[in-house]
Amino acid sequence: MSDSELYGDNDEFDSIYANEDIEHLINVGELLKTKSLDELLKNDQWRTQEIDSKINWYHGKISRESSESLLKEGLAKLGTVDGLFLVRDSTSSPSDFVLTVTSSAKIYHFVIKEAYSGHYQIDDGVIIQGLEKLISYYESDANGLVTRLHQFCGGEPPPYQARLEGATNILHRAVLEGNPDLVGKILNHPLCPNVNSKNQLGTTALHDCCRYGFEAVAQLLIEHNADVHVKDKQGLTPLQRACAANQSDMIPILIKKGKANAQTRSPKTGWVAMHDAAMRGNKECIQALLEFHTPKMPRAEDGSTPLDLASRYGRYDCIQLLSPQNSVTALTKKADWFHPDLDRKDYKDCLVHFIDDGPYFESLESLIEHYSRQADGLSTKLLVSVSTNTIRPDLPPRPADDIIDDDLYALAEDSRGTANPPPLPASHPPSSKTVQQKQAEPLQKLESLEDCKKIRSKDIVLGNEIGQGEFGAVRKGQLKTKDGPLSKKKTTVAIKTFHKDVENSGALQSIKREAGLMHMLNHTCIVQLIGICEEPFMLVEEFVPLGSMLDYLQDHEKSIPVKPTLYLWAAQIASGMQYLESKKVVHRDLAARNILVESTKQVKISDFGLSRAYAEESNYYKASKGGRWPVKWYAPECVNYGKFTHATDVWSYGVTLWEMFTYGEQPYGDLKGIEVIQLIDSGKRLDKPEKCPEIVYQKMKACWEKDPHLRPTFNDLHNHFEEDPEYSCTRDVMKRNKKSVK
Ligand code: ADP
Ligand code: MG
Repeated sequence: MSDSELYGDNDEFDSIYANEDIEHLINVGELLKTKSLDELLKNDQWRTQEIDSKINWYHGKISRESSESLLKEGLAKLGTVDGLFLVRDSTSSPSDFVLTVTSSAKIYHFVIKEAYSGHYQIDDGVIIQGLEKLISYYESDANGLVTRLHQFCGGEPPPYQARLEGATNILHRAVLEGNPDLVGKILNHPLCPNVNSKNQLGTTALHDCCRYGFEAVAQLLIEHNADVHVKDKQGLTPLQRACAANQSDMIPILIKKGKANAQTRSPKTGWVAMHDAAMRGNKECIQALLEFHTPKMPRAEDGSTPLDLASRYGRYDCIQLLSPQNSVTALTKKADWFHPDLDRKDYKDCLVHFIDDGPYFESLESLIEHYSRQADGLSTKLLVSVSTNTIRPDLPPRPADDIIDDDLYALAEDSRGTANPPPLPASHPPSSKTVQQKQAEPLQKLESLEDCKKIRSKDIVLGNEIGQGEFGAVRKGQLKTKDGPLSKKKTTVAIKTFHKDVENSGALQSIKREAGLMHMLNHTCIVQLIGICEEPFMLVEEFVPLGSMLDYLQDHEKSIPVKPTLYLWAAQIASGMQYLESKKVVHRDLAARNILVESTKQVKISDFGLSRAYAEESNYYKASKGGRWPVKWYAPECVNYGKFTHATDVWSYGVTLWEMFTYGEQPYGDLKGIEVIQLIDSGKRLDKPEKCPEIVYQKMKACWEKDPHLRPTFNDLHNHFEEDPEYSCTRDVMKRNKKSVK
């Protein structure tokens, strides 16, 4: 059987790669060794024109009359056809278009409105992202229009800003090679493609360049009129891409040289670049943005500020940078602003200076300063301004969040006062050499990558991005494996890719540890690691189609019943954790965001980035150095002593249950890490979610017992979920699942 027969099924990856000749898969730099640039660019232009020939219905700024005479000419040539059409610019609004179409020998004009950034709509019809996608929707069916769009009067392809996707050209490819000489040659060539055109994945050359941090290439692109405002398929500008990918050196280039606007929002979330940086914990990007006087407190569609996101994702470095008390503008009484005793949302009550839905500011002065720098959507007048009297001047300064990172023990003292320091475990402090050595040996052995299956990069076909991990994008893909002596098969997989700078950093160790750990594990309720690719370094995992449980809960609340679905998932997570316990693995990051949904009948535990196998002789893993700390999921002894055990995983399991029964609410709302620690200390716990049965809430509360010995074990939890008559509905499904695996 030939490869094309084997791989010819209709699949999204094939649509990306299928029509491309071999030449298209080779590096441009490589191709230039045998071909002239002239020749390459001519071929490329021809290829792009061929792809675009299907959407040559755009006629730019022609008048209504000209559009009618063009269609009449067409009708005369073709005979009376319905659905002969063209698209032109709207004369009244620069971002709108007009569809002119024939039906029953009459000519109609419909306004195509830009409903919101890059999304188009005719009358009350569906809103579709990408002008070409909207037209193709009405080409497939009339869908309420006078007629189906049938044939167009030839013009040119629509402008890049309005398009969702385009043809990947030589420039896109050369940019990904990160070679400024090569990119420069192409940009200076008369046959250079439009510098702003989008590729098959809906990004421009500048987007890709920002994402991978090729500074010299970015400079060149901007000098050649690359548009810094254009949005990619995800609705992100190049600046947002750079901030999401932690490419802080791109920020001055984009803002200073390219005049990029850091306040541009993503159409669906309302996030600006600062949100992207804060959510992913990209501290250098936040710093760089602040240097350009970017507001600290822009508000997303749901009101979230970057500080909220940083708290939500436990990005402690960023929390410190984003806290109003660390304002660049000097505040006379900055110590007065914050205190852990403030009620939730209080910091926003203090930051009451804002205009419309613009950023919050900590002072009227900084608001005025911001709006004197740029209009930023301001129309004419201040809509809301509340007096500063709401600030409580009597409060002592709040301890900085980052002490949790830097010094766990200092936190224990700071937050409780030094009079009665809590007893510390015998092995404290962690500098004790014997303790470290004892742990190091067995860990190295357990985490070795030697037995891990190695995968060659040529057997991997990378597909769309499905998520952003801490160290790089997670992409869907295909793995080719031998099925027999002559045949191959393809398996859909998830591929964790890594930013190029990760390899040189300490993070790689943690990733390799993740791989070594996952490869020891094999359980239905745990995401399976299939193997690793060493060059470039990638982890290949079982693909779990419905993605993160947190998103799934939020998006499908109506179709996820408490019984049987949530009960079943709870049982499965307990079962997976019980298995981890049997393998002496402490997860350390059990949370709804790290559970993946295969189907409503099966969820799987993932994300072992923070997990550690721990040595036989020591019954817990003790963190000697802070990292990203999801404090809201942590038991008090994790935060206070850096002590992680199965019992602390049980605490996190309780919080995960709470997330499930609230359908993805944020535990403790907007409270900050330090405030949560104090709340727990005072004996309070999360409230019972509305839809949560009392019996489940009792289990949750048991998981949050202060004394770890009083918490249930995963064994108890699993037995409870499987055996309790209340849960009998889950038992059958669990049994069925077990059978189908073995
Ligand atoms: P990190 O721990 O670095 O944040 P994750 O493992 O949580 O990375 O992955 C980030 C996102 O990618 C997840 O939330 C999920 O949406 C997606 N993802 C990760 N692994 C898989 C997988 N095996 N199958 C499907 N989607 C996955
Ligand atoms: Mg994760």
